[in-house]
Formats: sequence, C-alpha cells, structure tokens
Amino acid sequence: MVICEICKKEYKIIMQQHLDKHNVLVQDYKIKYPNSPLICEETRNRYKESTENYNKKYGSPNTGVPKSKKHIDNIKLAAKNRSREHYEKHRLLEIL
Ligand SMILES: [Zn+2]
Repeated sequence: MVICEICKKEYKIIMQQHLDKHNVLVQDYKIKYPNSPLICEETRNRYKESTENYNKKYGSPNTGVPKSKKHIDNIKLAAKNRSREHYEKHRLLEIL
C-alpha cells in the first residue's frame, strides 16, 4: 500500500483523480514528496503483467510485432466512438 502524504490514507494507487481532492497535480506531488511512491509494488507488478500480456497478445510499438486486424479494427472503432462523443458534446454546447 502507498500512503497519500496529504490525507495520510492508504491506497493501492494514488491517481490524479485522488489528488484533485487536494487540488494538487501529480507532478507537484512528486516534487513535494519525492520519496513517496504513487503506486504500491503489488499493483505495479499487476499492471506490468497485464501490459506484458497485452503486448504479447496484440504486439506493442516496441516489439515490432504487427497488430492483428481485429485489434486495428478495435482501435479504429474506439477512435470513431471517441470523436462521436466529442461531436455530441460540442453539439450539446451549441444547443445550450
Ligand atoms: Zn490524499
């Protein structure tokens, strides 16, 4: 577990979302508390493992393994959905 130096509570991971409560940016937190990790070892390993599994499965930009067509389709779909969401948001702003 890691401890948030500001509220002194234990977390598996301290993210910007949490630091928002203290009105602190991750960058500033790191500068202020350079010896306080933002992620506990166990969580880090789990993240690392899942990233490695993901890379093994789909290839990563570093390994040079080409991505499968399905994966590329998924990326395209995500990009499409995101721009759609973006579009909707802007349209909503125009209406309001
Ligand atoms: Zn905190």
